[in-house]
Amino acid sequence: MSLPIRNVAIIAHVDHGKTTLVDELLKQSGTFRENEEVPDCVMDSNDLERERGITILSKNTAVRHHGTLINIVDTPGHADFGGEVERVLGMVDGCLLIVDANEGPMPQTRFVLKKALEKGLRPIIFVNKIDRARQDPNIAVDKVLDLFIELGADDDQCDFPYLFGSGLGGYAKETPEDESDNMEPLFSAILRHVPPPVGDPEKPLQLQVTTLDYSDYLGRIVIGRVHNGTIRAGQQAALVKDDGKIVKTKITKLMGFEGLKRVEIEEAAAGNLIAVSGFGDANIGETITDPNDPQALPLIKVDEPTLQMT
Ligand code: GDP
Repeated sequence: MSLPIRNVAIIAHVDHGKTTLVDELLKQSGTFRENEEVPDCVMDSNDLERERGITILSKNTAVRHHGTLINIVDTPGHADFGGEVERVLGMVDGCLLIVDANEGPMPQTRFVLKKALEKGLRPIIFVNKIDRARQDPNIAVDKVLDLFIELGADDDQCDFPYLFGSGLGGYAKETPEDESDNMEPLFSAILRHVPPPVGDPEKPLQLQVTTLDYSDYLGRIVIGRVHNGTIRAGQQAALVKDDGKIVKTKITKLMGFEGLKRVEIEEAAAGNLIAVSGFGDANIGETITDPNDPQALPLIKVDEPTLQMT
């Protein structure tokens, strides 16, 4: 099961339409059905969020399109979660920036875009809500370009691909005048403009702990990207702690993303985003590695107040 992969983050100011758009992409990809078995703990993280009354965890969604697995990673827009935004952007090879056609770029647009540009990503712009645009949606594109320049984007980043559309209406198009009744243009833009992940599946395993989750059944769950090597359910692995200590352990469960759910998988090669249990001691930024060749990836700094899930 080694499908081609694209890993894309979705970034936007609050209310510009991330959730609606991702729902529509899920619906139109048609790969995953409502009644599919729910294998584990998606509910647990939702409960946790409900308790806190705020979306803290980044959400992973995956859709399949024309035989390619597209992992879509949600990013918090709020500056309080700056460290998390950086980590999430470290898992992907491209990003989709959603901008409301009427409002244009807003403070959180600026904040997340700055981080994405610093990571060297080349965003795809989606000018959203054109069904109720009160002005020419091209004006939003001009404002986005001004912001790119102001934030010091390079020439390649400033030459961003852009689309217009409506998450609510379920369509994307290349110019505001085009006829379109589906998201196909957006799917193709993702396949075309987000580079496939790099990483060597034959090298020793390296996976950086990017997000943590918890379930009563599995305990601590690590979410991250397989940077190198191949990870297998049941294998022995070593966790390189941030103080250099090495904790050997066994991977109890390996999961990939399908739709909004996690599904158990046997193995995942470099480039995949996965969730894994068996690492009760893991903290953000640490590396899961081959026990025979434990090489840590460079630490990602965590600059926000610690979001411990107690
Ligand atoms: P998020 O905060 O970025 O996740 O935004 P949501 O997806 O929750 O959308 C915020 C609001 O905008 C909701 O009331 C949506 O129904 C509305 N909305 C989202 N997409 C569109 C669109 O394409 N057109 C219109 N008219 N409204 C939209």
